[in-house]
Order: sequence, then structure tokens, then C-alpha cells
Amino acid sequence: MAICALCAAMSGCAPALKKAERVGFALDTAVSITLYGKSDAEAQYALDTCFVIIESYEAMWSRTRPSSDIARLNAMGSAVILTPEIAGIENAKEYFAARGEEFNPIEMNTAALIREAARISDASGGAFDITVGGVSALWDFKKKQVPNGKEIVKALATVGYRNIMDEYGYMTLLNGAQLDLGAIAKGAIADKLAEALPGLGIESAVINLGGNVYAHGLRPDGKPFTVGIRSPFDENALLGTIELSGLSVVTSGAYERGFEENGTYYHHLLDPKTGYPAEMGLASVSVISESSAKADALSTALFVLGAEKGMELALNEGVEAIFALENGEILQTPGIEKLGFKRA
Ligand code: ADP
Ligand code: MG
Repeated sequence: MAICALCAAMSGCAPALKKAERVGFALDTAVSITLYGKSDAEAQYALDTCFVIIESYEAMWSRTRPSSDIARLNAMGSAVILTPEIAGIENAKEYFAARGEEFNPIEMNTAALIREAARISDASGGAFDITVGGVSALWDFKKKQVPNGKEIVKALATVGYRNIMDEYGYMTLLNGAQLDLGAIAKGAIADKLAEALPGLGIESAVINLGGNVYAHGLRPDGKPFTVGIRSPFDENALLGTIELSGLSVVTSGAYERGFEENGTYYHHLLDPKTGYPAEMGLASVSVISESSAKADALSTALFVLGAEKGMELALNEGVEAIFALENGEILQTPGIEKLGFKRA
């Protein structure tokens, strides 16, 4: 035992880590996780647990599953935050009914994510806005239909993060506001996975939730992970590569979901002020941050803001960013250099 530990400490003959990886479908996208454990069993158990964690947060935050926290909050307009005190109430349903209220609880994790999303909505001047739900629900990128302009105008009246009231232990949505966590939830779930990994004995992993990448720790050979950023101009080409450890890179691109009608391309990154796809001359924006939720929300925000205002917000928020302009130009924050960004 002592010899073994000494031997491992001297490196070279450290026991080889065991790799486990799986590609699956969740969060309406392809999910792939690669991780390294000290044994096959440890790696496999951690991998299984990661997929269980993803499923549990999807059940909590999906806008389209009627029983999710978000769907119930949207439908009822108000929800009580499940603090330990509220969770401790026996027969909560009856207790709330006696006060003339329907018991509609949301997890503290949900409230925390709504708060972070509301903060970024404010910081971005509403370019990212989680109350965009009324408008985003009108756009169906699978059916490829441009919504009716009158419907968009009507739905726009419900958009605005100031419609979120966070008071007295309740989250309340005013003016019919509808939450859509689509631009931040994948990042938040990547953060939850990264938080869970150490407890599962995993020091090295790459999580990829539909292009939302988090690099946990270092590769088994002690180097940072090399992560490719897709070119927005060619799905088979890379814009470049970047070296990450304990960091997430998230890309928002017009190419991800969209369709063409009468010569106009409509995509899923909406300007909450108009209700239509944001056209600010950008093809894609990648954001790098320790927080994947922040990178996710900001990638959408920067896309909607455009390169100039986007650059300002990236610097204010202390994240790194790469802007791919429609004209082929690439702009980047100064700190990108330190992350070993290499153009392909
Ligand atoms: P993807 O989910 O394709 O990785 P994003 O993270 O940028 O892309 O999120 C886009 C999704 O977020 C949209 O499908 C929509 O549900 C929602 N959304 C679109 N525009 C905005 C916006 N300006 N602010 C907040 N959410 C948005
Ligand atoms: Mg996003």
C-alpha cells in the first residue's frame, strides 16, 4: 500500500485512469459525456449519475413538460419557493388551501436560476430576456412557419424581465410574462454536473450538452482539454480550438435552428424588443467562463447585441468571447490569447 502510494506520487507509474463515455439525447439535443475514473465501475457509476442529473433538471426546467417548475409557474403566474420551512409544512396542500391558495411549489434551485437569469437580463439591457417565452412559443422552427405579425405584437406585451417579482418567498410573473430558460438551462445543468463530479470521484471530464461544453479538471495526461469551436460557415469545419480546464465554452449561432422562407432566413435567437430573429451582423458568438450558465446566457445576449455592444458587455461581465461576423471577420476579447485560441 505504502509502496503503491509512493510509486503513484512519483508519477510515471500512477494507475491508468479508466475512461467511460456515452452519447445520448436529452434537453432536445445531443448530449455527450466523457469522464475518467479510478476504476471502470467508478467511471460507469459517475456516467450513469450524470444522465440521471440531466433528466432531473430537465423535468424541473423544461417549458414544455406540464409538471415542470417552469411550466407550472408560467401556467399559474405565481409559485412558492420550496425553502426548508415550506418543505417542512405537513399537508402543505391543505395548509395553502386554507389560505385560499393553490400549493404550487418550485425548487430553490429553480428560483436561484431565475434570479441569475434576471440579473443577466438586466445587465444586457434586455437583449437576453428570460420572459421571452410568449414570443418564442410562437416560433416553430421544426414546422418552419413565420408567426403572424399581430400575434407577435400581442405576445411582446408580456415580455420584460421586470415582470418577474421575487418577493415574500414567492416568484410571481406580472402581465402574463412567460419564462423560457432555453438560453441558460443547458449551461446551468452543465454547472450542476461539474459540481457533482468531485463527489463522484471524478477529476477529469468533458461534458457536451448540444455544443455547450464544460471541461472539468485536466486530461489524464495532465494537459488542458482541447475543445473545437464549430465554424458558423461550414458545419464540417472548425473556427478554431481552445484549451480549457475548469472552464466552459458556449456558442450561439444562427445556424443552429432556423429555416428559410421567401428568401429570408429566420433563426431561433430572438430580439426580445421586436420578437423577430436578431440581425446584428453576427454568424455566431462563443463565450468562455467558469460558469456555464453565464456563458450560455451571455452567448445569446452578445449575439442579440451585436459585436460592438456585445464586446462591452463581455468585458463588463469578465468573460472571454469570440465573435464571428457574417462578413467572415473574427473579433475577440484580449484574454482569449491566454486560452490558447488557435484559428483553424
Ligand atoms: P441553443 O439552445 O441553440 O444552444 P441558445 O442557448 O442561444 O441556443 O438559446 C436559444 C433559445 O433561447 C431559443 O430557442 C429560445 O427558446 C430562447 N431565446 C431566444 N432568444 C432569446 C433571448 N433573446 N433571450 C432569452 N432567451 C432567448
Ligand atoms: Mg445561450
